[in-house]
Order: sequence, then structure tokens, then C-alpha cells
Amino acid sequence: MHDDRALVEARLKRVLAERIRPAVYPESVPLAVSIWTAPDEPVPVAEGLAAPRVPVASGDAWGAPWGTSWITVEGTVPEAWAGRTVEALIDLGFDANMPGFQCEGLVYRPDGSPVKGLNPQNQWVRIAAPAVGGERVLLHVEAASNPVVLDYHPFVPTELGDKATAGDTPQYRLGPIELAVFDETVWQLVMDLEVLGELMAELPPDGPRRWDLLRAVERALDAVDLQDVNATAAAARAELADVLASPAAPSAHRIGAIGHAHIDSAWLWPLRETVRKVARTTANMTALLEDEPEFLYAMSQAQQFAWIKEHRPEVYARVKKAVADGRFVPTGGMWVESDTNMPSSEAMARQFVHGKRFFLEEFGIENEEVWLPDTFGFTGGLPQIIRNAGSKWLLTQKISWSQVNTFPHHTFLWEGIDGTRIFTHFPPVDTYNCSMKGSEIAHAVRNFKDKGAARHSLAPTGWGDGGGGTTREMVAKAARLHDLEGSATVRWERPAEFFAQAEAEYPNPPVWVGELYLELHRATLTSQARTKQGNRRSENLLREAELWCATAALRTGHPYPYERLDRIWRTVLLHQFHDILPGSSIAWVHREAEATYAGLAAELEELIGAAQRALAGEASGGRELVFNAAPHGRSAVPAGGAAVAPAGVGGCTVGAREGGGFVLDNGRLRVVVDGDGLVVSAVDAASGREAVAPGARANLLQLHPDFPNMWDAWDVDQFYRNTVTDLTAADEVAVQADGPDEVAVRVARSFGSSTVVQVLRLRAGGARLDIDTEVDWHETEKFLKAAFPLDLHAERYAAETQFGHQFRPTHTNTSWEAAKFEACNHRFVHLAEPGFGVALVTASTYGHDVTRAVRPADGGTTTTVRFSLLRAPRFPDPCTDQGVHRFRHALVPGAGIADAVREGYAIGLPERRVTGTAREVRPLVEVDADAIVVSAVKLADDGSGDLVVRVYESGGGRARGRLATSFPLASAVRCDLLERPWDGARCEAVADGDGVRLALRPFELATLRLTPAGRA
Ligand SMILES: [Zn+2]
Repeated sequence: MHDDRALVEARLKRVLAERIRPAVYPESVPLAVSIWTAPDEPVPVAEGLAAPRVPVASGDAWGAPWGTSWITVEGTVPEAWAGRTVEALIDLGFDANMPGFQCEGLVYRPDGSPVKGLNPQNQWVRIAAPAVGGERVLLHVEAASNPVVLDYHPFVPTELGDKATAGDTPQYRLGPIELAVFDETVWQLVMDLEVLGELMAELPPDGPRRWDLLRAVERALDAVDLQDVNATAAAARAELADVLASPAAPSAHRIGAIGHAHIDSAWLWPLRETVRKVARTTANMTALLEDEPEFLYAMSQAQQFAWIKEHRPEVYARVKKAVADGRFVPTGGMWVESDTNMPSSEAMARQFVHGKRFFLEEFGIENEEVWLPDTFGFTGGLPQIIRNAGSKWLLTQKISWSQVNTFPHHTFLWEGIDGTRIFTHFPPVDTYNCSMKGSEIAHAVRNFKDKGAARHSLAPTGWGDGGGGTTREMVAKAARLHDLEGSATVRWERPAEFFAQAEAEYPNPPVWVGELYLELHRATLTSQARTKQGNRRSENLLREAELWCATAALRTGHPYPYERLDRIWRTVLLHQFHDILPGSSIAWVHREAEATYAGLAAELEELIGAAQRALAGEASGGRELVFNAAPHGRSAVPAGGAAVAPAGVGGCTVGAREGGGFVLDNGRLRVVVDGDGLVVSAVDAASGREAVAPGARANLLQLHPDFPNMWDAWDVDQFYRNTVTDLTAADEVAVQADGPDEVAVRVARSFGSSTVVQVLRLRAGGARLDIDTEVDWHETEKFLKAAFPLDLHAERYAAETQFGHQFRPTHTNTSWEAAKFEACNHRFVHLAEPGFGVALVTASTYGHDVTRAVRPADGGTTTTVRFSLLRAPRFPDPCTDQGVHRFRHALVPGAGIADAVREGYAIGLPERRVTGTAREVRPLVEVDADAIVVSAVKLADDGSGDLVVRVYESGGGRARGRLATSFPLASAVRCDLLERPWDGARCEAVADGDGVRLALRPFELATLRLTPAGRA
């Protein structure tokens, strides 16, 4: 037989596009349209409904960037349509090729009740089935003219990303707005032909099924009268019935589909718009759940549920009902789909605490699956946090975006730094916006790496980010793919059902140990430095506020600010969303984030101040007390307590260096700064070892061009290193402080359009060289690094992460290591050879790189650590990081891991001085083992007055110790992160009067609920 595939396939394409799809709506009449544009920000629904309208017509321009317009459509169902299915079609000016990222609407009835959302691929509103002739139609649309920031001119700088700079040029033109007859038979024919046509294209040309489908499609097209599609659609469908009824092979891959809309909590739109995006999409999905009995929908991010609850209570009522019916599935158990690289130990824990608590309180549901499809990499600390939150499964697909290496598994056990293993699934469909296309289903089958051992994967299905979620077309396609020869089978499945079955089917999955590093978006560790700094400052202040408020509550009866702390935590957690903390949002988002963080800092300072004053007593006639919120004692002030300010120990000197520069010494460290203000020597007195590599200079600022191929705020491409300028010229190198307790040298430089002032400081008795940097940054598309070439030979280095540290190689033997050319640390990077180590600690810099070189002169190894200080990408925020920034870093020669941990905490938690009559504030708890670090001290969330203390083993070894309480202890219970008694803990907490004995595995975290005696 002749091969006529191309002919039939081209015929199918043209007839579908030009005759069959247009026949879905065979008759239409225009609706009358009128509009009112809100003067500024969105207005309440009642105000929008009541505002006076002016007439407007299809083709008219509307919608300044970020504006809100209320559009009314009205008309009458023609008498001739009685008994037929009638829909309103409302085209706000959509580009259907871009489902999301543009204008959107939410449709209301005249009484203000929401109907559904309007999105590029979801423009219909069902009016009646069957219709009554003469029926009045009146609907109102709250339309948001969000500008297209990304798709048309990807990564070209634009002023559209902030209302303040976006201008007022209308962004859209109204498309057709009409009332139409919906011919369901033709629509079903479209679905049949799309499913079979798409499946056909994926089948092997030498197999019989492909030809069966081709001939059936041909017969169906023959049956269509091109002049009267509506009358012949049923006959065409009949020709397809047999091939659609032929069942899938018993060995077919099984796809669990779950309705989904990945809605970024802020990104190319501000937070306030996400509130409305969620409402529109959710209105669509609750409506679709009513229309389609098999369909299931999952939504993550407790924050998004909380927004609907607060802002769109009518939509929330529909959500609550659908959740109660088991069809709208809250998933993920986190407050938002956060970044996981940068949040601190506590913040990562609280993402689960607040997410799970919300879902439990609102719906009585506890998720065991973690849902992070789009997060930019996953730390080795995360598995233990997931387990301690009471969860056991993880879903992401983001690692499929890696530039270089293909991840070897789709279903596997992921092992974290402490040995916790989490059953993890990467959907092989490689998207969280599956649309049930044949090519997607076939890709999932081919791509699935675990064939032979497993045959089940998950497909999150629906348009996100303003695309409106799952469409009725996707549901129709899923129904046809339920059991279809040649295809994977598809059925709607809740994430937890999928995981339970996938786990049961795959008893011995492969294991991946350590972080899930995303080989892309590496610059998200650096972009928008002020957002990152605000996050870190908030995390530190929350630690202090909880500690001092809990101490004051137990000691003085000072009221514990439960609700304020909860609210502040939730705001911090929201801003850890995977496009805010990573710095990949528009200018509006980051401008607001900076202001929000400033407000949180002021509020937390107030809470801390009030608690400390309650503890210190009457200020008048008092003396200065030093409060220490760090988990280690310092300057004779105990960890978590306060003591009278100790006298200085002195011993600091600074003198001129021969040939220019200065020598700073405090007895522990001797640092030489040359005439260019660079560190040419840093000697640890205890070991006598030099930290700086011979012939090299440390704290060297280096400037690279930084213009990635795409994703400007997200990406730094490896070629950036090919060009570098060392900023060695100094405008000034001078002594800034010269006292017995502190010596400092000030170095000023200028480069390009920018200036930088650094102060290098030694303090009496201190183990570190502090480096304070103030940059007035006015570069574009540049990357600023601070380099520390160290005389160290090390195969690997440690970088702090949540509840411990993870190791990375210093070499690039394989493509996997070479791809990690920019990586994340929390407060320290530590390198060591036996007997000597060096730590670099940082207050708020997350990005860094580590490289090694062998010196020709002496054969020694120079290992260089570089902190990534600033970038200046121009998309999506054209002014990213312009202006003044302040950083604090430190070099700690002679440091072991314990020193790195201690100095990392110390640099972010400076002592506070408060005047009062108290002689001391005894810590509530003290731990007698150096490696066991207190991560949080707080009152229990349940308001019982119990004290909750979280500790972890910080060195990577085993630790035994005793946590002593300074109050009589009635009981101690080992808990999960939600402060519930936890039998999953492998070690017991044993109370012994006024303390608890602890034995912890490497990096193990333990949450203890301590009930004071007399209150139990
Ligand atoms: Zn996302």
C-alpha cells in the first residue's frame, strides 16, 4: 500500500482548524459591552459592580499596565435558540498561544457571586443548557490588564515590571464578546480527533496501530460534510468509536493525572495580583469539579488558601465544600512553595509548621507529600525536615531543567545529610503544566528512567500563573486516554494515592545521596541582595524575639506575643517563595519586599526590646547588661542569657608595614594588609599557620561581565569567568580604629560608576578578621566577587545548610562537579586539611564558588573561596541591585567546623546592651556539648506555656550531652516540628529533674517540649 500518512495528517490538521473547530459554536450574536476603569488599585467587588460604565466595543483598546477594569456584558438569548446549549464567549484580547502571563478576568453574577475565571484558553461562560428563548444575560467581569513582561521579547529589559514605571498605554484590545450556541457533538469530535491524531503521531510507523488510527481518521473526515459539520459530526464520531474503544496493553505505563495550576505567589506580577490570580483559577476549578465527576484538583501553598479565605469568601466556601468532598485536594503541607537553598534551618521547618497547621485547622487534612515542582534545587538538609514535619514523600520536576547532566532516576529514595531517606518522584512528563497532549504523554513514557521496575508516574495537569488551571478539554482528553491502545493509561489521582501506590510498586528504588543541585538558575543565590538580606535579618530577629519573649514569659510573666510572631513568621515565609527570595521577580515585588522587611525589623526590635527590658528590670540606677542570643557563650556572657558587661581584655595593636600597609594583631590573629588594602597574610597564632596562599592576596574584589544567554536574574553562565578585572587600586588605605580592644583599617576604592569602602577589623580575643563592605553599586550586567586564596589542600569543602553542612568537591573531575560552579552556603564555608582549617563566614551572602590551583613555585595547592556579593541583571528588574549595599564577612584562620558554626552564628547575632537593675539573666536552657546547638527557644504554639527547644548536632558526628533547664522540669517530650509527641524519633528525651539527656546522630535535629514543674 502506498504511504499516504503525510497526506491524511495534513488533511486532519486543516479540516480541524478551518471547519470542525469553528463549528463548535455555529451561531452567535454580539453582546453589549460597557466598561469602568478603576483609577488606581483594585477595588472591592461591590464598588466595581456599582461603578458607572461607558459603552465599549470589540476592537477597542483597554487596560493600562496593572489596571483593573469592570466590564459588563449584556444581551438576550434569541428565541430560536430555545432548548440548545448557550455560552457567552468573552475575549478580553487574549493571546491563546500563551496560556497565562497576560490579562485575566473573573466573572460575577449581578448579585456579586463569582462564576468562573476568564483566561486565554478558557473564555467561555455557560449560560444555559437547555436555553430559554428571550432569557436576559447580564454578567460583570473584573478584568486585570496585567502586562506581558516575559513572552514576546524574552529577557529584554522592560519598565513594565513596576506600576511606578509602566506608563499608561493600553495593553489589550477587546476581542469578540458574544453569545453563542455550543454544539457539544462537534466539540466531542474535536476531542476525539485531537487525541487520536496526537497519539498517531507518536506511534511507530511500522506498527499496525498507527495505520489503524490513520484509516479511522480518514473515514471520519470522509464522513464530515464540510458545508454542514454540525449535521455530520455524529457520523464522523461513529467512525472513530472502534479505535477509541480498543484497550491499552496490560504493560502500559500508568499516568496519575492531577488537576493543577502552578501559581507563583509573586513573580512577573505583585503579591496583590496573586491574590486575584488564585481566586480566578480556583473559581474555574470548583466549577469544573461540578461539571466533571471524575476530575480531581490539587492546590499547594497554604498562603494561597488563606488569601482566598480573606479576600474572596464566596470562592472559599466553594473550595471548602470541594475539599470536604475529597475532590479539591490541598497538597504540599507548606506555607508556600519556597526556595529551599537559602531559608534557614528554622524557617525551613516553619514552612511546614505553618502550612500543615493551616491545612489541619481548616480542613482536618495532613499532607504526607511535599509539593515543590518548581523550586531551584534542594538541600541535603531538607529530607530530615520533611520527616520531622510528619511527611514522607517529595515531588519536583525542576531538576529536569538542569543544563548539563540528566538525572538518572524519576522515582528514587533521596538521602539527606543525616541519613534520612525520602521517597521522591520527578514526573517524567517534565512539566507541571501538562495539557494531556499526545506528545506529552508519549514523552513521559519514553523518558521514564525506572521502566522495568516501576510503571507509574504523576502528571500535574493544567495551566498555571493565570492560565486558569485545568480545562474541560484536558478532562475530555484524559477520559479518552483512560484505557486506549498505544497510549499510557491516564486516570485522575490524588498525589497521596499516587505516592502510596508508587511506593508499594517499587520496594527497592535506587538511592541518591546529598543535595539535588539544579544546574541552572545559579545566580538566584545572589540577585536582589537587599531581599536576601531582609530575609536573613528577619530570621535572626525572629530567633531573638522568640528567645527573649519566652525567657521573659517564664521569668517575669511578660505576655508572649503568639499572634504577632505567627503573623511575622508567615510574612517571612511568604517572601521565601521561589521567585521572591531568589531575586527573580519584577521590580515591584522587590521594592515592596524591602519595605515589608523594614517593617518587620522594626516590629521585631520592639518585641525584643520590650522582653529585654522586662528581664533587665528598672533602667534608672541600673548597669549595662549584655544579652547574647547566639547558641554559644561569648565574652563571659552565656548563650541565651545576659550578664553584666565584661571589661575589655585588650591586646590589639596596629602598626605600619614596611613598604606600605598595616599589620593588625590581637594575640590570636596577625593580619597583614598591603599598600593596596589587600590581605597578604593571616596567621593563626595557636598553630603558627599562614592561611593566605603564598604570593596571593585575599579579600580581593573581582569584577566579571555577566550577561547570561537567558534568564538574566536567574542565571550566570560559566563563560562569565573568562573575563575578570581585579580591583586592586585603592583610593585610600588608612587606620580607622586603634584601641586595645579593637583595631581596624579602612580601604576605599572606586571602579566603573561605583565605589566601595571596606573596614578590616580585629577585636580583642576574637578569632576572626571581620570585613565590613559598603558598596555604592551602579554597574550593569556585572558580577562582583570577593576572593580568598587559601593555602589549603582539600578534596572537598563544607557549606552550611539547614541543621548541618553539606560537602562539595573542590575539583571538576566530572561534569556533575563542573556544573556546580556556583553554590549555596548559609553562614559558613569551611575548608580543612588534617590539623588546620579555615572558615569564611557571612552575614547574608549565599552564593559562592570554590576552585583549586597548584602553584608552580612550591607545588602547593591554592584553594580559593569567593563570595558572590552583587550582580546587576536587567531582567525582569531593569535596575536590579542599584544603590548602596552593606555586607559583613569574616575570615577565620585555624577554624574547625565547630568554630565555623560558632562564628557563623556570632556574625549574625550581635550582642545587645540594655541598662537595668538585674545582675544577670540566666539562660532557660544550657547544653554541655559543643556540637549540640540550640536552633530555637520558644513557647509552644498551643499556648500551653510549655517551652519548646530545638537542638541539632552540628559537627557531623555523634554527640552526647545534657540540656539543663534553669527551671524545675516536670516532663520532657521529644516532638515533631508541629510540637506533637513523636514516636518516629530514634532517640528518647529523658527528663532527669532539671534537664534532659541527649544522644544525637550526625546532624540529627531534636524538638523538645519541656513542661515546667508547678504548671503541669
Ligand atoms: Zn514557579
